[in-house]
Amino acid sequence: MCENHDALSQAYLNYRAELIEAGLLIPSGVDGVYGRGGLFEDIIQRFEALVTQAGAPFKPEVMRFPPIVSRQTYLKTDHIENMPDLMGSVHSFCGNEREQRKMVEKAHAGEGEWVEALSATDVMLVPAACYPLYPAATGRLSKEGRLVDLKTFVFRHEPSVDPARMQSFRQREYVRLGNPQQALSHRNEWLERAEKIHRSLGLDVQVVAANDPFFGRAGKMMKASQLEQELKFEIVVPICSEEKPTAITSCNYHLDHFGLAFDITTAEGEPAHTACIGFGLERIALALFKTHGLNPQAWPASVKKELEL
Ligand code: ZN
Repeated sequence: MCENHDALSQAYLNYRAELIEAGLLIPSGVDGVYGRGGLFEDIIQRFEALVTQAGAPFKPEVMRFPPIVSRQTYLKTDHIENMPDLMGSVHSFCGNEREQRKMVEKAHAGEGEWVEALSATDVMLVPAACYPLYPAATGRLSKEGRLVDLKTFVFRHEPSVDPARMQSFRQREYVRLGNPQQALSHRNEWLERAEKIHRSLGLDVQVVAANDPFFGRAGKMMKASQLEQELKFEIVVPICSEEKPTAITSCNYHLDHFGLAFDITTAEGEPAHTACIGFGLERIALALFKTHGLNPQAWPASVKKELEL
C-alpha cells in the first residue's frame, strides 16, 4: 500500500514537472497554486466553446460573479459544517499606524505571527461556482424556472503535488432552478451531454456515483446518504493513475437545500429544487494533455476537429 502511494506521488510529481517544463503550468512555490501558460488557456477556451455550444439551445442566462462571496451567503450554504477544512477566508489589516509598524517589523523579521494583526473582512473565497447565484435568485421563479451559465475561480484548501488538485481553479457551470422534475432532468440530461462531449475529445471517461468530502464523523453519514440518494455523479478519467481516476466534471442534485436556505420558490410557492453541472476546466485540460500528449498539434485528427485546432 505504501509502495503504491509512493508510486502515485511520483507520478504526480513527474506529470507536474513535465507540465512546468512545457510552460503549460507556471509554479508559484505553493503546491496547488499555478499560473497557466497561453497554450493551456487556449485549450480551456476551446473546450468552453463546446460547453457554450451545447448549452445554447436552452438559452441560459449568463452571469459572472467574482471569486469572493459575502460571509453571510457563505454561512447559509452549510459549507462551514460540511467542509470546514477546505474553506478560505479573506482577512485584511484594520489597525492603526502603531499596530501596522509592529506588523511590518514582525513580517520583515520572518515571524509568521504578523498575520495575527489581520482581521476577517466581509468576504470568503468562493468554494463552488454556483454559491454566489443563490442569494441573487431569492424570490419566486416563473413556471419555466431558470437556467444560469456561471464561471468563476473557486478555492479549496487542499495543497497537493497532484497537478489536478489545485487550490484555485475554474468551474464552468449550468445551474437549474425550478421544480423537482426540472432540476432532476437537468442533472440527468447534462450528465449524458457532458459524457458525450468528453468522449468526443478522446477521453476514456466513466460516470460514477460520488459523494462530497464531508468533514469528520458526522460527514461519514452525509457521504453515505448522498451516495444512497444518488445526488452526485462524477465523470472521471485516469490522469496520473488508472486505479484512482480523477473527477473532471460533476453533476449535483441539491434537492431543496438552496431553495430553503435562500428562500427561492417555484411558481407554485414550493421551495425550489436546484441542480448543477460543473466542468472542472483545469482538470479537463490536464486530462487532454495527459491523454494526447503535450503538443496539441499532434493530437488525433478527430479531437483537433472538435476543438477547431
Ligand atoms: Zn454547483
